[in-house]
Amino acid sequence: MAATDDFLKTMSEITKESGKYAKELFDKGYDKAKTIAEVTKLNIDLSNQKRTLDRLYTELGKLYYVNRQSGENERIKAVCAKIDTSRVAIDNLELTIELTRNPKKSETDEESQNEAAKTPEPDSEAVELIICTECGAENIQDEEFCIGCGKLLKSE
Ligand SMILES: [Zn+2]
Repeated sequence: MAATDDFLKTMSEITKESGKYAKELFDKGYDKAKTIAEVTKLNIDLSNQKRTLDRLYTELGKLYYVNRQSGENERIKAVCAKIDTSRVAIDNLELTIELTRNPKKSETDEESQNEAAKTPEPDSEAVELIICTECGAENIQDEEFCIGCGKLLKSE
């Protein structure tokens, strides 16, 4: 009787576990589809923005040509400002696309950046000196024998 109960309990746990697993897979699949949809949308934004930038460059060229002798360059400045904005928008979109496609990669990059930032710290503090009890010479921790008198520094 008890054995049957245990068996049933185990079975229901296995079912629950595999259900959880299936849900995880489903969630992952859903996330992937969402990512592809997002990247597709971002790519459309990006190509629109690039077209805008091309149009602004053309406009700038025409303005420059028309105003080359009048010295009237307020409109040229305005178009240049628009070009700046457009170029920043393109950079941001490209970065967003990269991060959406590769969230893992950006995490790893951050981690390695953090590690690189941390690296110098241990070096500056790592050297611990052992003062020789015989002659008072300062020996670095790795040294087995005193550099001053040759006494064995580590008893073990
Ligand atoms: Zn010594």
